[in-house]
Amino acid sequence: MTLRKEFIITDSRVASLYPDAVRLKEKDVCIVIPEGEESKTLATAEHIIGRLLEMRADRDSVLVGIGGGVVCDLAGFVASVFKRGTDLVLEPTTLLAQVDAAHGGKNGVDAFGLKNQIGCFKMPLEVRIRKEYLRTLPQREYLGGIAEMLKTFLISDAALYRSAAAFFKDHNDVRDLSDPSVLESLGSLVDCAASIKRAIVGRDPYDRGERMLLNFGHTFGHAIELHSGLTHGEAVAAGMVTAMGMSPLPAGRMEEVKEDFARIGLPTASPVKEADLREAILNDKKIKGGVLRMVLLEDIGRAVIRQVTV
Ligand code: NAD
Repeated sequence: MTLRKEFIITDSRVASLYPDAVRLKEKDVCIVIPEGEESKTLATAEHIIGRLLEMRADRDSVLVGIGGGVVCDLAGFVASVFKRGTDLVLEPTTLLAQVDAAHGGKNGVDAFGLKNQIGCFKMPLEVRIRKEYLRTLPQREYLGGIAEMLKTFLISDAALYRSAAAFFKDHNDVRDLSDPSVLESLGSLVDCAASIKRAIVGRDPYDRGERMLLNFGHTFGHAIELHSGLTHGEAVAAGMVTAMGMSPLPAGRMEEVKEDFARIGLPTASPVKEADLREAILNDKKIKGGVLRMVLLEDIGRAVIRQVTV
């Protein structure tokens, strides 16, 4: 059996925190990009491809993305276009990436001031979840991951939503993860959220139907993220509250979720003006013929897709 050579793509912060995991000192193995959303561009993808060529990577190589959603999206994009496609392994290091970005095969880069305008589908061969990475997350990144996890439960499972909300009300501080039993419980919630996402993606890999439910909170969330200083996950939390305001929910549900978000430390309203939100939404790639398909909640744990005219 030939051992296939792995090339690691990571970002500067993960490389400085985990030099051994990303094999930083080994010659011609690791490509480090600057941390942050600003790196999610075609220019960075081209830079990575240039480095892969220098390192003599070929179609039989395996690209391993070790990092948050930015690294996962970029590694997936490069793996789908480099030499017309190489295999991909993802090792997500943020909570958001462990529950969401690493699963499902969507990748892409931002362009023309808009998120994820260029990209494709590429399923990873393997997703390696190591919950120990989560201990070093900045507090706001931890909160952002909590928001994406709660989104998954809000669209799919009321009991899981309520037990996750109760857990995070007690453990909304990333320093709590130094306690092994807290980290263990978080790990179980990560597994539940990841397997719900994988099941939905398995039934609708190319985003033609059910998978759209995973976009709950994201139409407004992307617009809020672009116009505010919020992280992706925080913006999604604000976007979920905005979408719940348009949802046919039973009495009391909106208040319940807002109270949970407030206790956890997540936004409970959009900080962006309505006119700016509308402008950004008109540019959303999911708009077809002036009609926007929105994910709304019928109840906690039950989501529906409705058409809204903008
Ligand atoms: P990110 O990748 O920018 O990571 C956030 C920050 O945390 C970065 O500064 C990073 O260096 C740092 N970091 C990563 N791991 C760390 C660790 N273990 N300890 C300390 N710091 C660490 O952002 P993210 O929130 O992980 O992901 C957001 C991105 O993911 C967005 O671009 C979004 O569009 C994308 N996304 C993609 C999908 C998908 O299905 N493809 C789904 C959701 C989000």
